[in-house]
Amino acid sequence: MSTPFFESQELTKDFGGLRAVNNLSFHVQEGEIFGLIGPNGSGKTTVFNLINGYYPITSGQIRFQGTSLNGLPTWKICKLGIARTFQVVKPLRRMTVLENVMTAAFNHTDSLTKSREKALEILEFCGLIDRKDASAKGLPLGDRKRLEIARALATEPKLLLLDETMAGLTPQEQADGVKLIRKIRDSGITIIIVEHIMRVIMSLCDRILCINYGQRIAEGRPEEVANDPAVIEAYLGK
Ligand code: ADP
Repeated sequence: MSTPFFESQELTKDFGGLRAVNNLSFHVQEGEIFGLIGPNGSGKTTVFNLINGYYPITSGQIRFQGTSLNGLPTWKICKLGIARTFQVVKPLRRMTVLENVMTAAFNHTDSLTKSREKALEILEFCGLIDRKDASAKGLPLGDRKRLEIARALATEPKLLLLDETMAGLTPQEQADGVKLIRKIRDSGITIIIVEHIMRVIMSLCDRILCINYGQRIAEGRPEEVANDPAVIEAYLGK
């Protein structure tokens, strides 16, 4: 069998006595949009924090393009080509939109000119070019979410982890967000997405993994997962 693009094997994370992620195995193929869903507190954000090295793994393995990520610092994981957004967006508030994206572009270049070119290209791609000179501080939520995605893209990832990029957005902004995420995938970037808005998840994902209490309860195509009794119970039984 060929090496999976991304693979989590028996991943486990304990916070003291709490097992937040429990023996979780899954893989993601190159070019996929892979959804990670589950009720509040089920361990989704912790999985992202383990993938990008923010938390040490208690046991198990994470491999990206055949390389083990266990024990690597966050910056090295970023250099390998994994970027993430955060549920609560935190731009560098005293900088402009362009400067925010430029700082992320320094992941791949030391040149100011090159980072500026890259940042402008990404702002155009994300529909933020008209905002380039605006201060990040005063941006409306929809633009802040786009800026967060733009900053992640500026690190030139192969795998992008999107954490709740749609929360708080209007239906129109959500529809635009879905378009942007598809465009990112079509540009050759693989995506793992955590999202509560089911309409978004169902329309975007090729496959979905549903977890509860840190454990797998279902995995499959959107329609399979949506109709799975264990998934329905996890959501309704809260
Ligand atoms: P989700 O993203 O699915 O809402 P989380 O991954 O944030 O879930 O949380 C999973 C569980 O781990 C929760 O019970 C949460 O309270 C706990 N948890 C998350 N981060 C920490 C931490 N840094 N310290 C202690 N417990 C944590």
